[in-house]
Amino acid sequence: MKKLSFSLSCLLAIISFSLYAQSSCYWQQHVDYTMEIKMDVENYQYKGEQTLVYSNNSPDALDKVFYHLYFNAFQPGSEMDIRLQNIADPDSRMVNNLGTKDNPIYESRISKLTPEEIGYIKIKSLKQDGTNVTYKVTGTILEVTLAEPILPGAKATFKMKFDGQVPVQIRRSGRNNADGVALSMTQWYPKMAEYDFEGWHADPYIAREFHGVWGNFDVKITIDKDYILGGTGNLQNGDKIGYGYETPGTKVKRRGKTNTWHFVANQVHDFTWAADPEYIHNSLKTKNGITMHFLFKDDKKVKAAWTQIQPKAAELMEYYSTHIGPYPWDQYSIIQGGDGGMEYAQCTLITGGEDYNDLFGTTAHEMAHTWFQHILATNESEHPWMDEGFTSFISALASAYVKGNKNAKPFGSYRSYYYLVNSGKAQTAATHGDRYEYNFAYSINAYVKGKIFLSQLEYVIGEEKLMETLKKYYDDFKFKHPTPNDFIRTAEKVSGAQLHWYLTDWIETNNTIDYGIKEVKASEDTTSTVVTLERIGLMPMPIDVVVEYTDGTSEYFYIPLRMMRAGKANPYDFKKTELADWPWAFPTYDVTINKPMAEIKTITIDPSGLMADIKLANNKYPAQ
Ligand SMILES: [Zn+2]
Repeated sequence: MKKLSFSLSCLLAIISFSLYAQSSCYWQQHVDYTMEIKMDVENYQYKGEQTLVYSNNSPDALDKVFYHLYFNAFQPGSEMDIRLQNIADPDSRMVNNLGTKDNPIYESRISKLTPEEIGYIKIKSLKQDGTNVTYKVTGTILEVTLAEPILPGAKATFKMKFDGQVPVQIRRSGRNNADGVALSMTQWYPKMAEYDFEGWHADPYIAREFHGVWGNFDVKITIDKDYILGGTGNLQNGDKIGYGYETPGTKVKRRGKTNTWHFVANQVHDFTWAADPEYIHNSLKTKNGITMHFLFKDDKKVKAAWTQIQPKAAELMEYYSTHIGPYPWDQYSIIQGGDGGMEYAQCTLITGGEDYNDLFGTTAHEMAHTWFQHILATNESEHPWMDEGFTSFISALASAYVKGNKNAKPFGSYRSYYYLVNSGKAQTAATHGDRYEYNFAYSINAYVKGKIFLSQLEYVIGEEKLMETLKKYYDDFKFKHPTPNDFIRTAEKVSGAQLHWYLTDWIETNNTIDYGIKEVKASEDTTSTVVTLERIGLMPMPIDVVVEYTDGTSEYFYIPLRMMRAGKANPYDFKKTELADWPWAFPTYDVTINKPMAEIKTITIDPSGLMADIKLANNKYPAQ
């Protein structure tokens, strides 16, 4: 019955607002977690009780649900372990090299874990609305056959007891990481898999990355009283806990061997924490009233950088809030932990600090992920370029801004992209994050091709429209699960241009861009000059041509791409001449310049360098 009424209302919405049919039918599931965790810091084991109220907002009746048990990946023989043993270029953090740098022999670190060192989550009991359910665990996935289907619009309450063991730190999570942080608790609890318009996303934990259900978390962690925690959510009992979380002036009285830390986080899709008895905890309040927490080891190697980063992190927060959209929660924590850097809800775990510039770069990147993953929650497994690429783009701009270099453009990456193209090992950027033959091809697609997706879009629609697109994308899709199509439609609405070809060619294919200057010759009466351009690559592009004259002036010729049905503002501060559009199927295009050849000094296709033309040698006249 509920299903019928849902479909009917969706149908009515389509009839009345056909323009917005997709968004009016949008739905997403919702979770409310309450967890009580007892952590034994001696043996790295913990016991958990989880109550999960699951709201089925989908139009479908569900007869199964799936949970992620991520810690099970850190066991010999797991999919993560076997994959490490079979990929040509494994993540160096996850292997020991028994050979040399030039002739490496890799050993999976997971394969060497003892039963006391592995990670696990073992389900002790699971009930749906008071009734036991049947379930099975395969690797990192718990498959639950429901006692009663969850109807569209209905809720179910799952009560689970589980035992966990924190693995020796291999990747992201774990105990005693390289910096000596005791507990990096990421992907550490039984987590409901996402069910969305594409169905279930019960991806095994092989490497990368995540997709979670939006919801609220209420988490109590009981742990040895010497441990200091940080992570997702607001601490509810700071006056009892202390360690810098108390109201200034409060006298904290601790009794007993343990503390119970009570965190609440609303409108997030994950919950992370870290703990160490040697953390220093500093905090500050930003201009916009957000409390930023900094937790780092009391270790003289890292203290200077972790202190220096604090005001800079507040500036980064302000940059992202201004250029994408406001930071929507009232706390953010930057915590020493994990490996390298990794983004989580309302916090990040970062290693290092011996070098301030490294720490700054990683912090800028991980904080930007708050927007491109933890507010705009794309499916990272399916579209890694949307979180890593967009994050890399905006963090490059933010870093330059905070460092006082206001005109920096993110160019360094184009060389990596060309390297991937020339390697012959490229897969399309639409490849699932786990399904790459080579890790380096994943990395370049996700971080670099995704970043160029935006910097090159600036070339296509102009800087102002690009930055407006990011803001509208935030406004329209915050706290949702936007897709690639949602982003490109936003860019279309902002710019007035038709852009689906851009998404298709750049992300879903390996097509490349190569335009060139084929010939420059005088017209028959020698009063003007004819420049013949050619399209060599398959990917279409609008074309900017800049001509420098011998009298020191310049002129910008803009050749619109016919399938875009729109142009862009003049990015230069000299004269623009807009020419007829170039239909993609035509391999050549003639530009007539109303000056004799002798008065032309140079001709350049896209002097901005934002178009990722794989062969730059043919973009200039005279040829170089
Ligand atoms: Zn990242």
